[in-house]
Formats: sequence, C-alpha cells, structure tokens
Amino acid sequence: MQRQALVIGNWKMNGSQPLVASMAAALAAQPELLKQVTVVVCPPAVLLTSWCQATSALAVAAGVQDINEHADGAHTGEHSLQLVAEAGAEYVLVGHSERRQWYADSAARVAAKVQQVMAYTEQPVKLVLCVGESAEQRAQQQTMTVIEAQLSSALAALTSAQLSRLVIAYEPVWAIGTGLTAEPAQAQQVHAFIRNWLTNKWGVSGAAVQILYGGSVKADNATALFAEVDIDGGLIGGASLQVEEFLAICAAAQARSR
Ligand code: PEP
Repeated sequence: MQRQALVIGNWKMNGSQPLVASMAAALAAQPELLKQVTVVVCPPAVLLTSWCQATSALAVAAGVQDINEHADGAHTGEHSLQLVAEAGAEYVLVGHSERRQWYADSAARVAAKVQQVMAYTEQPVKLVLCVGESAEQRAQQQTMTVIEAQLSSALAALTSAQLSRLVIAYEPVWAIGTGLTAEPAQAQQVHAFIRNWLTNKWGVSGAAVQILYGGSVKADNATALFAEVDIDGGLIGGASLQVEEFLAICAAAQARSR
C-alpha cells in the first residue's frame, strides 16, 4: 500500500522570524519535492501566523506542538484546538514525550487532547500521536507493552471514520535529542507492531495510517530509516532548525515516494 511520505519539523521552544523566512524560501525552491512529500513545520505557537504567511503560496503545512484538552476557559498560557486551527494549524502533535515527562501529560490528558482534535470538524486538522518507550523500559523488554498501552488509552474512543486524520509518531524517548538513533531494523520492528495493532483494530483503513519515526533523525541516517517498509517519514526535532539538514531529510523521504 502506497502511503504519502510525510516529514514534520518540531522546532520545540526554538526558532525565530529569520528562520521562518529562510526555511520558507528554501522550501519554495523545491516544488518537485513538495509534490512528493508532505512537509509540515510546527514552530512555537507565537510564530504560527508568520509561518502560515511565509508559506501561503506553497504546498507546505503548519502545525503546533500541543493543545490544551479543554475547548476554552480559564487556562492561562494555553491554546485550544480551535484557536490554533483558526490561526492556520493543520497538524497537532499530542503526547510528545517531553510533555508526558515534564508537563503532566498523563495518559488521561493525552486521550482528552485526542478527543479535542477529533471533535473539531470545522477543518480537518490532523492528529500526530507520539508514542515511545524509555531506555529503562526497553532494557526490561517492555517496549511493545508500553506502546500498546499508549495506543490503547489514547485511541480508545477513535472511530474508523476519524482514521484519515490520524498519524502516529514512534519516538523512543532514549533517542530524542540525544544523538542516539534507533537502528533502522529496530525502528521497523516497532513500526510493524504499530501497523499490526492498527490493522487488527480497523482493517485496511488502520493499515493506511502514516507512521513516522522520530529520534535524532539527521540527513545521514534518514535514507536508511525511510527505506524501511513501515516507516512513512519522520518527526524531526533538532535537525529541523537547520535549513539544509531539514531539506536533505525531506529529500530522503522523497526517495521513498518514487
Ligand atoms: C522530537 O522532539 O520529536 C525529536 C524527534 O527530536 P530530535 O530529532 O532532536 O531527537
């Protein structure tokens, strides 16, 4: 089954107006690439409008790194799905390990955020659900148990009609921002497990869900990772802040599309 290659940059709490301008200009010079690879950038929310303006003529999407689990109300400093969607976000990361570790994103909160995204039907915003095991959990051979628990709790209420709005990102916690990358075969093993889980639950529509790998993806390891049958692209942190590096990773995903 052919799934469109997808590369998402997660700028985390980094970036600037000059980076918005230089990344948008570099992508504008790659029309062929943008036909074959869906490219999304998730800048900090305050740069979202600038990103959307800079890329308005391009086939490039905007995303955000998180949303609040409530639709509105007294939640100082937070952003609802509706606010970010109206500002131009077409993708929303939910359950990133940094939020699970440091910002109290429990399994229940992640599930509530999933519901916020899916309940919003004004625009078809896509959910990128991040899952992944810690180094300790891998050492104790709990990887698949952890991934299954994260999928089951986050997606318990998902219907098959909502699957076209779902993307999964497998991000081993030990590989995020550490320079350690899962070996392609090691990542593929978990991606195949996720693909089977989705297929068992939803059949062919489950099998069609894009599954991204994230964790220290760089230009020099992207091709080997994206060559794996169940790796449909990448969620890129640090390397998405470097224009040439990010473009080279997108080009590696383009090779997958051919
Ligand atoms: C991430 O934060 O989603 C990520 C994959 O980061 P990095 O590429 O820097 O490991």
